[in-house]
Amino acid sequence: MQYNYDFEIASLLTMTIILLQFMFIRQFPGEKTKAFGALLVTCMAECAVNILSCIGLANAALVPQFVNELLAFAFFVLEGLASYLLFCYFMVVCRYEGKKRKLARLLGVIPFALFCVMAVSTPFIGFFYYFKDGAYYQGFGAGFGYVYIAYFFVLNIILIVRRRNVVSLHTKGIVSVYAVVAVAMIVIQYYVRGLLLTSVGNTVVLLMLYLELQNPSEHLDSVTGIGNESAFEMQLKKRLAGKEGGTVITIHLRKFHHIHTVVGLENSNELLRQVGAYLYRLCGKFHVFYAEGELFTVFADTGEDRERIEAAVWKRFGEEWTVQENRILLNIEMVIQHYPRDFQTEAEFFGMRQFLLENAAKSGMTVSVETNEELVEQYHRRRKIELAVARAIQDKGFGVYYQPVYSLREKRIVSLEALVRLYDEELGYISPEEFIPLAERDGSIIHIGAQVLEECCRFLSRHVLSNLSLGIRTVHVNISMAQCLQQNLTETIAPVLEKYHIPPSMLTLEITERTAITTPERMLWHMEELGKMGVSFAMDDYGSGNANCSYLIRFPFEEIKIDKDIVWAAFEDEKARIVMENEIRTIQRLGIPLIVEGIEHREQSEMVESLGVDYIQGYYYGRPLPEQECLRYVRSFNSVPENYARQ
Ligand code: C2E
Ligand code: CA
Ligand code: CA
Repeated sequence: MQYNYDFEIASLLTMTIILLQFMFIRQFPGEKTKAFGALLVTCMAECAVNILSCIGLANAALVPQFVNELLAFAFFVLEGLASYLLFCYFMVVCRYEGKKRKLARLLGVIPFALFCVMAVSTPFIGFFYYFKDGAYYQGFGAGFGYVYIAYFFVLNIILIVRRRNVVSLHTKGIVSVYAVVAVAMIVIQYYVRGLLLTSVGNTVVLLMLYLELQNPSEHLDSVTGIGNESAFEMQLKKRLAGKEGGTVITIHLRKFHHIHTVVGLENSNELLRQVGAYLYRLCGKFHVFYAEGELFTVFADTGEDRERIEAAVWKRFGEEWTVQENRILLNIEMVIQHYPRDFQTEAEFFGMRQFLLENAAKSGMTVSVETNEELVEQYHRRRKIELAVARAIQDKGFGVYYQPVYSLREKRIVSLEALVRLYDEELGYISPEEFIPLAERDGSIIHIGAQVLEECCRFLSRHVLSNLSLGIRTVHVNISMAQCLQQNLTETIAPVLEKYHIPPSMLTLEITERTAITTPERMLWHMEELGKMGVSFAMDDYGSGNANCSYLIRFPFEEIKIDKDIVWAAFEDEKARIVMENEIRTIQRLGIPLIVEGIEHREQSEMVESLGVDYIQGYYYGRPLPEQECLRYVRSFNSVPENYARQ
């Protein structure tokens, strides 16, 4: 039979164009790219062999039979391989991983191996085809070839359908078209014998895969033209799976948004491009990536590379960058992490990097932070604390202790400060100084605040309201910045007070001056709203920040708490003492009651008493205690206060 292979030639041409594109446009060497490359080359070889085979058969008189036999054999093996490779490609796209991938792969490997055995045996037993007098004939097992192709066809569709939640709409579209094209090819070939269409279907699928799934810009950052975050993650994953260790260097451009504001979007993008290009030249292909937030990430494979890159980066960033007529000095933070020594998973890398960047940012200048045992330890402790906080939020596992506030004038305890406590099986008691800042960072402080308030109101309603002889008039509850930023702060407090029938005048909310000045408008509004209900406010840790008396005038604080560090400093240092005395005098002249914190000894108590302060909160008058102990303590203290001048 004469074969018409015009469509095969057109297909080969099209595939060649795809191959050229694929080779010349920068691709990131991920699994998907490799699978696509293998599939493309196999399909091209299959197509070329098919054409050659047709030519050979048409010229059987001139071409020795063994050449035609060899071509037929090659064609069958390549066809079997192409079906298998398309299946492998879809397996990558469907993100089958680990055990599941091994299992799924068996579904492809076994039929492919069987197909190979048949193909190899064909020259001896004439399974797929045989040659007689130089002519080609279908063998007794030719049907197996069709079954094999149909099997993979169905398998691919099952694969995609099963992973429909993971694969993109594009992939689903491609598979649908692939199904339609394959069926159409079979029908046409059935009616038009001799017309070869084997590669047409392959080409259509390859073209669609290339255009839709092998989009190289998927891994390129559009501004800098270097690899983007997803390309970085792909590389990181690959490296972590490998045996070789290495270093990841992160370069963060500090305060880049200021530069952006000053020079404009176009120029700041140009600047990023320049930095990207510089690092690309320095570190090489597939080694430099850019992620939002002005983060450049670089892989250094060896110790020498690392030293070279580090030195060059410091030198270059010590000099100016020129964009248009602007000369700009870029400040950076550099974070250096080694794998597998410091981290073994991607999540660990990102978590630790965030932690190190924050550490670097605290220093407020151009710095380099390299992971070491201590930092890794700190990072893991922080992760554990974050998990402990999350668990406690879920299980309502926070405890609340109460610390007495002593009135110097009345010589008795008149109020309590509620202080949150967290106990963890592994870490033991975790200080609020350690977990509150973390909870503030991720917003979970809002849940902690709600639990503390609820617990505190329950305590008041059960033990204090019914026991007025105890002498406790108010309870102080700390509220964080995140809580104050909420628009509905009043709505989170009022219902709890109502639920436990607590008179709002019993509640004093403590906020730090940092909170007050960060959102002054909103804070004033909250103070007014809650103030109307009868809730009062105390400024906490006065003097620890940029203490400024103007805040005292601006905000209607009913009490000021002098920070314990200021108090301790005043006992150590004459100048600090003068400053503190002045501050106390100013606050007194404004007529705002004062609480002094951190009083641990009698001399300290006598000293602040001589300054005429109103209240003292400190270990000297009582430590934070669990509710029952605190009740016992207050009861006995207030009945015979003079017995309690301890230490
Ligand atoms: P703070 O609001 O300044 O609370 C006073 C802290 O000083 C408490 O530490 C208390 O135990 C400690 N303290 C009081 N008197 C003395 C003393 O004489 N000597 C010494 N060395 N320490 C004294 P604690 O309980 O560890 O709390 C630390 C911080 O955690 C608190 O400082 C507050 O900022 C925060 N915090 C505690 N509970 C909560 C809460 O429920 N919500 C929020 N947002 N923050 C809380
Ligand atoms: Ca406080
Ligand atoms: Ca305080």
